[in-house]
Amino acid sequence: PITPTSKIWMNGELVDWDDAQVHVLNPSLHYGWGVFEGIRAYATSSGSAVFRLTDHIARLYRSAKIYMMEPAFSPEEIIQATKDLIVENDVQACYIRPLIYLGYGEIGLNPLPSSIEVMIAVWPWGSYLGEDAERNGARATISTWRRNDANIIPPAAKATGQYINSSLAKVAAIKAGYDEAIMTSPNGHIADGSGENVFIVSGRKVITPPLSDGPLGGITRASVMQIAADQGYEVLEQHIVRTDLYLADEAFFTGTAAEIVPIASVDDRPVGAGRPGPVTKEILDIFHQATRGELDRYKDWNESVR
Ligand code: PMP
Repeated sequence: PITPTSKIWMNGELVDWDDAQVHVLNPSLHYGWGVFEGIRAYATSSGSAVFRLTDHIARLYRSAKIYMMEPAFSPEEIIQATKDLIVENDVQACYIRPLIYLGYGEIGLNPLPSSIEVMIAVWPWGSYLGEDAERNGARATISTWRRNDANIIPPAAKATGQYINSSLAKVAAIKAGYDEAIMTSPNGHIADGSGENVFIVSGRKVITPPLSDGPLGGITRASVMQIAADQGYEVLEQHIVRTDLYLADEAFFTGTAAEIVPIASVDDRPVGAGRPGPVTKEILDIFHQATRGELDRYKDWNESVR
Protein backbone atom coordinates (compact mmCIF):
# COMPACT_ATOMS: atom_id res chain seq x y z
CA PRO A 1 0.00 0.00 0.00
CA ILE A 2 1.02 3.60 -0.59
CA THR A 3 2.01 5.70 2.44
CA PRO A 4 0.49 9.14 1.78
CA THR A 5 2.53 12.31 2.13
CA SER A 6 1.10 15.81 2.42
CA LYS A 7 1.01 17.28 -1.11
CA ILE A 8 0.85 16.15 -4.73
CA TRP A 9 2.00 18.41 -7.55
CA MET A 10 -0.69 18.73 -10.23
CA ASN A 11 -0.09 21.00 -13.22
CA GLY A 12 1.97 23.46 -11.20
CA GLU A 13 -0.23 23.49 -8.09
CA LEU A 14 0.37 21.78 -4.77
CA VAL A 15 -2.79 19.83 -3.96
CA ASP A 16 -3.62 18.02 -0.71
CA TRP A 17 -2.93 14.30 -1.12
CA ASP A 18 -6.61 13.28 -0.78
CA ASP A 19 -7.79 15.95 -3.20
CA ALA A 20 -5.52 14.85 -6.10
CA GLN A 21 -8.36 13.33 -8.15
CA VAL A 22 -9.40 12.79 -11.79
CA HIS A 23 -12.83 12.24 -13.32
CA VAL A 24 -13.96 8.62 -13.88
CA LEU A 25 -14.31 9.42 -17.59
CA ASN A 26 -10.66 10.43 -17.85
CA PRO A 27 -9.55 8.84 -21.17
CA SER A 28 -6.15 7.69 -19.82
CA LEU A 29 -8.03 5.54 -17.29
CA HIS A 30 -9.99 3.91 -20.11
CA TYR A 31 -7.30 3.34 -22.75
CA GLY A 32 -3.96 3.57 -20.95
CA TRP A 33 -2.58 6.50 -22.97
CA GLY A 34 -0.14 8.04 -20.53
CA VAL A 35 3.58 8.01 -19.76
CA PHE A 36 5.34 7.92 -16.43
CA GLU A 37 8.54 7.44 -14.50
CA GLY A 38 9.61 5.63 -11.36
CA ILE A 39 12.47 7.41 -9.57
CA ARG A 40 14.07 7.15 -6.13
CA ALA A 41 15.59 9.72 -3.84
CA TYR A 42 18.03 8.63 -1.15
CA ALA A 43 19.24 10.13 2.10
CA THR A 44 22.85 11.27 1.66
CA SER A 45 25.22 13.16 3.96
CA SER A 46 24.16 16.37 2.17
CA GLY A 47 20.43 15.67 2.49
CA SER A 48 17.99 14.07 0.10
CA ALA A 49 19.38 13.45 -3.40
CA VAL A 50 17.42 12.09 -6.36
CA PHE A 51 19.21 9.33 -8.24
CA ARG A 52 19.77 10.37 -11.88
CA LEU A 53 16.72 12.65 -11.88
CA THR A 54 17.74 14.42 -15.09
CA ASP A 55 18.08 11.08 -16.92
CA HIS A 56 14.68 9.92 -15.68
CA ILE A 57 12.97 13.13 -16.76
CA ALA A 58 14.71 12.93 -20.16
CA ARG A 59 13.24 9.42 -20.56
CA LEU A 60 9.82 10.75 -19.51
CA TYR A 61 9.97 13.32 -22.31
CA ARG A 62 11.14 10.68 -24.82
CA SER A 63 8.14 8.57 -23.81
CA ALA A 64 5.89 11.63 -24.22
CA LYS A 65 7.32 12.28 -27.68
CA ILE A 66 6.54 8.73 -28.80
CA TYR A 67 2.94 9.22 -27.64
CA MET A 68 2.71 12.75 -29.10
CA MET A 69 2.04 14.37 -25.74
CA GLU A 70 3.41 17.88 -25.26
CA PRO A 71 3.27 18.97 -21.63
CA ALA A 72 3.01 22.68 -20.81
CA PHE A 73 6.09 22.30 -18.59
CA SER A 74 9.72 21.94 -19.63
CA PRO A 75 11.89 19.08 -18.34
CA GLU A 76 13.77 21.66 -16.23
CA GLU A 77 10.50 22.76 -14.61
CA ILE A 78 9.56 19.16 -13.81
CA ILE A 79 13.01 18.55 -12.32
CA GLN A 80 12.66 21.62 -10.09
CA ALA A 81 9.07 20.75 -9.18
CA THR A 82 10.19 17.25 -8.13
CA LYS A 83 12.91 18.62 -5.87
CA ASP A 84 10.57 21.22 -4.36
CA LEU A 85 7.93 18.56 -3.73
CA ILE A 86 10.40 16.41 -1.79
CA VAL A 87 11.30 19.42 0.36
CA GLU A 88 7.62 20.38 0.77
CA ASN A 89 6.69 16.86 1.93
CA ASP A 90 9.71 16.66 4.20
CA VAL A 91 10.74 13.20 3.01
CA GLN A 92 14.34 12.05 2.52
CA ALA A 93 14.45 8.63 0.91
CA CYS A 94 11.35 8.25 -1.25
CA TYR A 95 9.88 6.91 -4.46
CA ILE A 96 8.87 9.52 -7.04
CA ARG A 97 6.10 9.03 -9.58
CA PRO A 98 5.64 11.64 -12.31
CA LEU A 99 2.80 10.95 -14.77
CA ILE A 100 1.79 12.70 -17.99
CA TYR A 101 -1.81 11.85 -18.84
CA LEU A 102 -4.80 13.05 -20.82
CA GLY A 103 -7.31 15.50 -19.39
CA TYR A 104 -11.06 14.91 -19.12
CA GLY A 105 -13.26 15.85 -22.07
CA GLU A 106 -12.72 13.47 -24.98
CA ILE A 107 -13.51 9.74 -24.93
CA GLY A 108 -12.82 8.66 -28.53
CA LEU A 109 -9.73 6.66 -29.37
CA ASN A 110 -7.92 9.66 -30.87
CA PRO A 111 -6.01 11.13 -27.92
CA LEU A 112 -4.78 14.21 -29.80
CA PRO A 113 -7.65 16.61 -28.94
CA SER A 114 -7.23 15.99 -25.19
CA SER A 115 -5.43 18.36 -22.87
CA ILE A 116 -2.13 17.13 -21.44
CA GLU A 117 -1.90 16.95 -17.66
CA VAL A 118 1.12 16.38 -15.45
CA MET A 119 1.31 15.16 -11.86
CA ILE A 120 4.11 14.22 -9.48
CA ALA A 121 3.76 12.33 -6.21
CA VAL A 122 6.42 11.26 -3.70
CA TRP A 123 6.17 8.81 -0.80
CA PRO A 124 8.39 6.52 1.23
CA TRP A 125 8.58 3.07 -0.38
CA GLY A 126 10.73 0.21 0.84
CA SER A 127 11.84 -3.01 -0.79
CA TYR A 128 9.85 -3.94 -3.93
CA LEU A 129 10.55 -7.66 -4.30
CA GLY A 130 10.74 -8.22 -0.55
CA GLU A 131 13.61 -8.47 1.90
CA ASP A 132 13.88 -12.25 1.53
CA ALA A 133 14.43 -11.94 -2.23
CA GLU A 134 16.94 -9.13 -1.67
CA ARG A 135 18.93 -11.17 0.82
CA ASN A 136 18.60 -14.71 -0.54
CA GLY A 137 17.73 -14.15 -4.19
CA ALA A 138 14.43 -14.11 -6.06
CA ARG A 139 12.71 -17.16 -7.51
CA ALA A 140 12.02 -16.25 -11.13
CA THR A 141 10.14 -17.96 -13.92
CA ILE A 142 10.04 -17.45 -17.68
CA SER A 143 6.56 -16.19 -18.44
CA THR A 144 4.34 -17.54 -21.19
CA TRP A 145 3.30 -13.90 -21.64
CA ARG A 146 5.59 -12.30 -24.20
CA ARG A 147 6.79 -8.75 -23.96
CA ASN A 148 5.32 -6.23 -26.44
CA ASP A 149 7.55 -5.55 -29.39
CA ALA A 150 8.38 -2.23 -31.03
CA ASN A 151 5.55 -2.57 -33.56
CA ILE A 152 2.90 -3.48 -30.99
CA ILE A 153 3.42 -1.25 -27.96
CA PRO A 154 6.89 0.28 -28.13
CA PRO A 155 9.10 -0.77 -25.21
CA ALA A 156 11.20 2.37 -25.75
CA ALA A 157 8.44 4.30 -23.97
CA LYS A 158 7.38 3.84 -20.39
CA ALA A 159 3.65 4.03 -21.08
CA THR A 160 0.90 3.29 -18.55
CA GLY A 161 -1.09 0.91 -20.80
CA GLN A 162 1.85 -1.31 -21.59
CA TYR A 163 2.00 -2.38 -17.96
CA ILE A 164 -1.03 -4.63 -18.36
CA ASN A 165 1.44 -6.85 -20.24
CA SER A 166 3.86 -6.75 -17.29
CA SER A 167 1.04 -7.29 -14.79
CA LEU A 168 -0.26 -10.38 -16.64
CA ALA A 169 3.22 -11.87 -16.38
CA LYS A 170 3.64 -10.80 -12.74
CA VAL A 171 0.29 -12.24 -11.64
CA ALA A 172 0.95 -15.56 -13.39
CA ALA A 173 4.36 -15.79 -11.70
CA ILE A 174 2.97 -14.99 -8.23
CA LYS A 175 0.08 -17.47 -8.67
CA ALA A 176 2.59 -20.16 -9.61
CA GLY A 177 4.59 -19.47 -6.45
CA TYR A 178 7.46 -17.41 -7.90
CA ASP A 179 8.62 -13.91 -6.96
CA GLU A 180 9.04 -12.48 -10.45
CA ALA A 181 8.43 -13.12 -14.14
CA ILE A 182 10.95 -12.84 -16.95
CA MET A 183 9.43 -12.11 -20.36
CA THR A 184 10.71 -13.04 -23.78
CA SER A 185 10.67 -11.06 -27.02
CA PRO A 186 8.49 -12.27 -29.91
CA ASN A 187 11.52 -14.13 -31.31
CA GLY A 188 12.08 -15.93 -28.04
CA HIS A 189 15.02 -14.02 -26.61
CA ILE A 190 15.02 -12.98 -22.98
CA ALA A 191 13.78 -9.39 -22.85
CA ASP A 192 12.93 -8.08 -19.40
CA GLY A 193 11.48 -8.73 -15.98
CA SER A 194 7.95 -7.43 -15.38
CA GLY A 195 9.41 -4.26 -13.89
CA GLU A 196 13.17 -4.85 -13.96
CA ASN A 197 15.99 -5.46 -16.40
CA VAL A 198 17.77 -8.82 -16.34
CA PHE A 199 21.52 -9.52 -16.21
CA ILE A 200 23.53 -12.73 -16.22
CA VAL A 201 27.13 -13.23 -15.14
CA SER A 202 29.32 -15.76 -16.89
CA GLY A 203 32.94 -15.77 -15.74
CA ARG A 204 34.15 -12.16 -16.13
CA LYS A 205 31.29 -11.31 -18.49
CA VAL A 206 28.26 -9.31 -17.39
CA ILE A 207 25.55 -9.70 -20.03
CA THR A 208 22.16 -8.05 -20.54
CA PRO A 209 19.74 -8.23 -23.50
CA PRO A 210 20.11 -5.53 -26.19
CA LEU A 211 17.35 -2.91 -26.45
CA SER A 212 16.32 -4.47 -29.78
CA ASP A 213 15.02 -7.46 -27.78
CA GLY A 214 12.57 -5.14 -26.04
CA PRO A 215 13.78 -4.41 -22.53
CA LEU A 216 13.14 -0.94 -21.18
CA GLY A 217 16.32 1.14 -21.39
CA GLY A 218 16.65 1.07 -17.62
CA ILE A 219 18.57 3.74 -15.77
CA THR A 220 19.64 1.21 -13.15
CA ARG A 221 20.70 -1.01 -16.08
CA ALA A 222 22.88 1.81 -17.45
CA SER A 223 24.32 2.47 -13.97
CA VAL A 224 25.13 -1.23 -13.46
CA MET A 225 26.76 -1.46 -16.89
CA GLN A 226 28.96 1.51 -15.92
CA ILE A 227 29.83 0.07 -12.50
CA ALA A 228 30.61 -3.39 -13.94
CA ALA A 229 32.85 -1.88 -16.64
CA ASP A 230 34.62 0.25 -14.00
CA GLN A 231 35.21 -2.94 -11.98
CA GLY A 232 36.93 -4.51 -14.98
CA TYR A 233 34.18 -6.84 -16.17
CA GLU A 234 33.44 -7.31 -19.84
CA VAL A 235 29.98 -5.80 -20.27
CA LEU A 236 27.95 -7.08 -23.20
CA GLU A 237 24.51 -6.38 -24.64
CA GLN A 238 23.84 -9.75 -26.17
CA HIS A 239 20.85 -12.00 -26.97
CA ILE A 240 20.18 -14.47 -24.21
CA VAL A 241 17.81 -17.43 -24.19
CA ARG A 242 16.22 -19.15 -21.20
CA THR A 243 18.90 -21.82 -20.88
CA ASP A 244 21.55 -19.10 -20.60
CA LEU A 245 19.74 -18.11 -17.39
CA TYR A 246 19.59 -21.73 -16.18
CA LEU A 247 23.31 -22.16 -16.80
CA ALA A 248 24.66 -18.73 -15.77
CA ASP A 249 27.09 -18.39 -12.86
CA GLU A 250 24.89 -15.62 -11.46
CA ALA A 251 21.87 -13.58 -12.49
CA PHE A 252 20.18 -10.49 -11.11
CA PHE A 253 17.40 -7.98 -11.68
CA THR A 254 17.91 -4.21 -11.81
CA GLY A 255 15.32 -1.45 -11.53
CA THR A 256 14.48 1.70 -9.63
CA ALA A 257 11.83 0.10 -7.42
CA ALA A 258 13.65 -3.24 -7.00
CA GLU A 259 17.20 -1.75 -7.06
CA ILE A 260 19.46 -4.82 -7.54
CA VAL A 261 18.02 -8.19 -6.61
CA PRO A 262 19.93 -11.46 -7.04
CA ILE A 263 18.10 -14.24 -8.90
CA ALA A 264 18.38 -17.50 -6.93
CA SER A 265 16.59 -19.72 -9.44
CA VAL A 266 14.85 -19.66 -12.81
CA ASP A 267 12.07 -22.20 -13.43
CA ASP A 268 13.28 -24.07 -10.33
CA ARG A 269 16.84 -24.47 -11.65
CA PRO A 270 19.25 -22.89 -9.15
CA VAL A 271 21.34 -20.20 -10.85
CA GLY A 272 24.95 -21.03 -9.96
CA ALA A 273 24.96 -22.02 -6.30
CA GLY A 274 21.36 -20.82 -5.91
CA ARG A 275 22.50 -17.96 -3.67
CA PRO A 276 23.56 -14.36 -4.36
CA GLY A 277 26.96 -14.63 -6.06
CA PRO A 278 30.14 -12.59 -5.52
CA VAL A 279 29.86 -10.47 -8.69
CA THR A 280 26.23 -9.59 -7.92
CA LYS A 281 27.20 -8.66 -4.36
CA GLU A 282 30.14 -6.57 -5.51
CA ILE A 283 28.00 -4.58 -7.96
CA LEU A 284 25.13 -4.31 -5.49
CA ASP A 285 27.38 -2.91 -2.75
CA ILE A 286 28.82 -0.28 -5.08
CA PHE A 287 25.35 0.61 -6.35
CA HIS A 288 24.09 1.09 -2.78
CA GLN A 289 27.03 3.32 -1.93
CA ALA A 290 26.52 5.29 -5.14
CA THR A 291 22.81 5.91 -4.51
CA ARG A 292 23.65 7.17 -1.01
CA GLY A 293 26.23 9.61 -2.35
CA GLU A 294 29.20 7.80 -0.81
CA LEU A 295 31.28 7.48 -3.97
CA ASP A 296 32.99 10.47 -5.59
CA ARG A 297 33.25 8.58 -8.86
CA TYR A 298 29.45 8.56 -9.24
CA LYS A 299 28.62 11.89 -7.55
CA ASP A 300 26.96 13.18 -10.73
CA TRP A 301 24.21 10.62 -10.18
CA ASN A 302 23.14 12.29 -6.89
CA GLU A 303 20.97 15.31 -7.62
CA SER A 304 20.44 17.17 -4.34
CA VAL A 305 16.98 18.56 -3.71
CA ARG A 306 18.34 21.81 -2.22
N1 PMP B 1 11.98 -2.93 -17.27
C1 PMP B 1 10.71 -2.58 -17.00
C2 PMP B 1 9.61 -3.24 -17.73
C3 PMP B 1 10.45 -1.60 -16.03
O1 PMP B 1 9.20 -1.25 -15.73
C4 PMP B 1 11.52 -1.00 -15.32
C5 PMP B 1 11.25 0.03 -14.27
N2 PMP B 1 11.14 1.33 -14.79
C6 PMP B 1 12.82 -1.38 -15.66
C7 PMP B 1 13.02 -2.35 -16.62
C8 PMP B 1 14.00 -0.77 -14.97
O2 PMP B 1 14.19 0.56 -15.36
P1 PMP B 1 14.86 1.61 -14.37
O3 PMP B 1 16.14 1.04 -13.93
O4 PMP B 1 15.03 2.84 -15.18
O5 PMP B 1 13.91 1.79 -13.24
